[in-house]
Amino acid sequence: MTQTGGQTASMVEDPPDVDVRRAAQLLRSEYGLDAEVTELRSERDRNFLAEADGRRFVVKVSNTGDDAEQIAMECAAMDHVAAVDPGFPIPRVLTSVDGRAVVTVEAADGRTHLVRVMTVMPGQVADLTALPAWFATDFGSATARLTQALQGFGHPAAYRRLDWDPRIVTSLRAYADRLPQEHRREPMRRLLDRFEGLDAATRALPAAVLHGDVTLSNVLLEDGGITGVIDFGDMHHTARVAELAISLTSLLRESDDLWADAGRFLDGYQRVLPLEPAEVELIGELILARSAASVLISAWRAPLYPDNEEYLTSLVAGSWRILDLLAELDPAALANRFHRLCGTSRVASAQAADPTLLVRRQSALGGELSPLFYRQPLQVVRGDGAWIHTADGRRYLDAYNNVPVVGHAHPAVVQAVARQAAVLNLNSRYLHPNVVELAERLVASMPPGLDTCVFANSGSEANDLAWRMARVVTGRGGAVAADLSYHGVSEATAAFSTNTYPASARPAHVAVFQAPRDPRDDGMVAAREVRAARSALQSAGHDLALLAVDSVFSSAGILTPASSFMRGLQDETRASGGLFLADEVQAGFGRGGRNLWRFQDFGLTPDFVTLGKPMGNGHPVAALITRREIAEAFVEVDEYFSTFGGNPVSCVAALTVLDVVEQTGLVSRSGEIGALLKAGLESLVPDLPVRGQGLMVGVELPGAVDFAERLRDNGVLVGTTGPGGGVLKIRPPLIWDESHVERFLIGFQQALR
Ligand code: PMP
Repeated sequence: MTQTGGQTASMVEDPPDVDVRRAAQLLRSEYGLDAEVTELRSERDRNFLAEADGRRFVVKVSNTGDDAEQIAMECAAMDHVAAVDPGFPIPRVLTSVDGRAVVTVEAADGRTHLVRVMTVMPGQVADLTALPAWFATDFGSATARLTQALQGFGHPAAYRRLDWDPRIVTSLRAYADRLPQEHRREPMRRLLDRFEGLDAATRALPAAVLHGDVTLSNVLLEDGGITGVIDFGDMHHTARVAELAISLTSLLRESDDLWADAGRFLDGYQRVLPLEPAEVELIGELILARSAASVLISAWRAPLYPDNEEYLTSLVAGSWRILDLLAELDPAALANRFHRLCGTSRVASAQAADPTLLVRRQSALGGELSPLFYRQPLQVVRGDGAWIHTADGRRYLDAYNNVPVVGHAHPAVVQAVARQAAVLNLNSRYLHPNVVELAERLVASMPPGLDTCVFANSGSEANDLAWRMARVVTGRGGAVAADLSYHGVSEATAAFSTNTYPASARPAHVAVFQAPRDPRDDGMVAAREVRAARSALQSAGHDLALLAVDSVFSSAGILTPASSFMRGLQDETRASGGLFLADEVQAGFGRGGRNLWRFQDFGLTPDFVTLGKPMGNGHPVAALITRREIAEAFVEVDEYFSTFGGNPVSCVAALTVLDVVEQTGLVSRSGEIGALLKAGLESLVPDLPVRGQGLMVGVELPGAVDFAERLRDNGVLVGTTGPGGGVLKIRPPLIWDESHVERFLIGFQQALR
């Protein structure tokens, strides 16, 4: 045990009266070992080094003040670690010939002592060496690994009180009066006030029976690595973060670049065991508390043991350096520093309303370039299934966002994304199963022939690539889209996003067909529209390469086209030598309530299908699916690579969304809940057109923009679309159930008044 040992009883008992000869005898009789034995230095135990059969052991003869239960716990814990993490370097406890981990020896003075024999770990004690550059990170990892290895361990002896426990440092208050430097006493008393609530604050945090003393004096290193963690004599049940703070304090006492070393240590720690924000909140306080405990215990004990003064004061200077540096910061500022080192600062789920945010946003994001929803914008804090929480403490029913298709912050998606990000994220030019599995599943969901999948990061990029392929394959340069369409932000896709500019600004290579505002518009109408668009292109010197259609006609005001109209578009496009793109960026992933893809409702067999928006439940991921011969013709003359497209994190997000959609039957649910919603709306506004299918519903309503504001006042978020924004756009996460519809209709009714 190092000086950090908490028990005082053994400090006053004499060391065991056992010599080298008695130790060798014991090894022979109890362990069957014929060993050469030499004595090791120890404060109050009697320790020996034994060498037998080319192996080295430590023989620990315990002080009679040591507790047998405590020693049994240490042995059990070491066995536990050896079993669950066999590669982690801790000593192994030898069992005697009759199978005991602990034996007894009678000393010359008649006292009986407990004896353990352990393997010797290679390397040098860290606090006796100049710490190498890699040490801080590896030390963090080792601390975390041991913490993790012990998480399933328990023992009744662990519930004990140790003077060194940083959580209870205020119990050392009396020793502030004994600090040798008088000017330190009053500031120390004030500092201790700061720790009054510390013990209670750790109670809600993850805890376990832990080593309790993973410090530089108990860590061995050699040739570029940590070779051993020894001395389980301070084990006790404690918060994981208290264990971390004990180790980190020990490192920082020796550091001349405190924040850099803390960062490296925490990096190493979190690579093994990610911290909870609530744990990070307390790291700084616990480091201060542990440092304060060091100087207080030294002030208490050094005068009692003058022979041992050097040892008992060895941590004092380093502890004061930490205290002087960190106690400058108040608890919130200190916590913030650690949150920033750990990456936990920007994910607070309880954010205060920030009155400066809007002005700062306007100045940094270019005002009108980045408009916001609502006259009084919402400062959003947290999403939870169908709900969005704002900084003023309100909760809104989300009837607008189709991206969180399986609900805001879906735990499975969150897990998958976080775990993959913790393992690997890289471009898709390496072999990795995620991208392959996702491509296979998407292709399998498509009609025969759509056999080739390419990944991008946004619907715009996917559409842009379809456009490039169509131009190469057809050798033409004309695009046709609906009169009020949206297909993306790139130069190419913005050109056929006819909703975003006045007709007078339409480029010559783009022509439009009239969106099917009349549900009776059929295949003949569609064919006529396509022919007219084609001749418009031809008279401008172009010809039809690509016709793109968003099958829900979202920006035209949410229309429900007849199947024959959609087939007419497709067939006439093909007959004209063009290619047909079903843009499922908005409509896909089951929103229509019948099929996974809306184009399937119409019996279409597109040349291109593009996916995006809901695909990653908020993580940016998109795809283009096409036929092999189109892809091959394209790569003959061009190439495609997207840095982020198809990376393992994006793919795992999309795979998990597909899993959730499939396993929870969200497609049919979207159909049922959508029908309920539509019926409810029709009964509330019998005179108004309610359009759409599944959970994509449009209500044409005079003053729709004002109405959306009133809905917001009543706790419901919707959007507006269509000509002049005259249509309410209702497009919620697909996890809505009857209660959400009910809540929506109540808000709707209130807004009508
Ligand atoms: N196509 C359609 C039908 C869309 O609704 C959108 C986005 N609103 C896009 C393409 C473009 O997708 P993104 O914003 O991801 O680039």
